[in-house]
Amino acid sequence: MKVMKFGGTSVGKPERMHGVAKLITRDNESAIVVLSALSGTTNLLVNISEGLASNERSDARQKIDQLEAQYMQFVEDLLQTDVAKEKAKKYLAEHFEFLNIILKISFSEALNKDILAQGELMSTRLFSVYLEEQGINHVLLPALEFMQIDAYEEPQIGNIKVKLSQLINANSGQTLFITQGYICRNSKGEVDNLKRGGSDYSASLIAAAINASVCEIWTDIDGMHNNDPRVVEKTIPIEQLSFDEAAELAYFGAKILHPASIWPAQHFNIPVKLLNTMDPEARGTIILQEAGSVGIKAMAAKDGIVAIKIKSSRMLLAYGFLRKIFEVFEKYRTSIDMITTSEVAVSLTIDSKQFLPEILKELEAFGSVEIDDNQTIVSIVGNEIAKTPDIMKRLFDSISNIPVRMVSYGGSKHNISLLIPAEYKVQTLQLLNKGVFGL
Ligand code: ASP
Ligand code: MG
Repeated sequence: MKVMKFGGTSVGKPERMHGVAKLITRDNESAIVVLSALSGTTNLLVNISEGLASNERSDARQKIDQLEAQYMQFVEDLLQTDVAKEKAKKYLAEHFEFLNIILKISFSEALNKDILAQGELMSTRLFSVYLEEQGINHVLLPALEFMQIDAYEEPQIGNIKVKLSQLINANSGQTLFITQGYICRNSKGEVDNLKRGGSDYSASLIAAAINASVCEIWTDIDGMHNNDPRVVEKTIPIEQLSFDEAAELAYFGAKILHPASIWPAQHFNIPVKLLNTMDPEARGTIILQEAGSVGIKAMAAKDGIVAIKIKSSRMLLAYGFLRKIFEVFEKYRTSIDMITTSEVAVSLTIDSKQFLPEILKELEAFGSVEIDDNQTIVSIVGNEIAKTPDIMKRLFDSISNIPVRMVSYGGSKHNISLLIPAEYKVQTLQLLNKGVFGL
């Protein structure tokens, strides 16, 4: 059995949904199909929820009406028969009735999660009605019945496995299952989610839970590219990546795959394929334990980084200094991306400003603290990077005019990271594309 996940743009138009139905019935292998919400829906639900939280109810109502009109039109174009259209509209009415009731009650965090869940609930229901109209036999599996996170928001893979196999076994003889990405239940049994972009994570968890033959992530680009196609003109798809390489790329900004989705596939050794709904025959990218080849494969950039420098003569010849600094970040549950040290100073980067004032205040006890805001990490990823001839020379020669703030090399065999001011990102990616890939 395989897992096939389709993102928001792959289901965002009626004709794209028709295409998905073709793709999932192309071969005979049984499949669990994981769908995102239609593109734009989750963003709009976030807006609606924020509107309610800040008591701008008429604005929220207007957005709900806008969404409803959009979905009603979608049904008209998705389906052919009046019976199917009626059925779909009846389902949608339930979801919009729910949203309209919410307008009248006081806002809470639990309610927020309920609102956000509507996107995937609607997309899967619509798709299911379409499959039914086409006479395609399938079962709609409610993710809320098997996808579960604990009090630390960690997926409970053991439970997921047990519940999912029960559901599959209860439908013996069935070979096509449709389910929602992104949504889950938390430790209190409430509706929750795996964070934005979390449908990839759902797919990978499901693949791990059923020991799938492959986890296919279908998007609108033919695999992971060597550089950001939105920024750099000439980019090429990468044929094969190791899980470690893919994790570095996803974490450091490649938007095609949610970074958390790597570990379940890696741990349970499930191959991941990144494929293109617009060009299903394209080879895409396969992610396996093995890297396939030695050398640099790709680069990615991550924005919104803050660099913090702590300078202290007490660090000179002292031990335990770094531990004390790390403890501050641990206390505020803020993860550190890059770190470099000199004898009297340490610089590190974080990607969340949520607790920045508190962190800075506590760090001041250790020395003078300076921050550089609006930084970008550019990560160059590959296998055994150090074995690439002249790599450091080529890299720095090609960006000799860029004011590099930090360099991280040797942390793993797969990564060289540079910290640069955000305004140099585009230029840096373009220069490196030429200097390193010759493109
Ligand atoms: N619909 C959710 C989002 O937009 C999850 C996903 O698409 O992966 O974040
Ligand atoms: Mg996505």
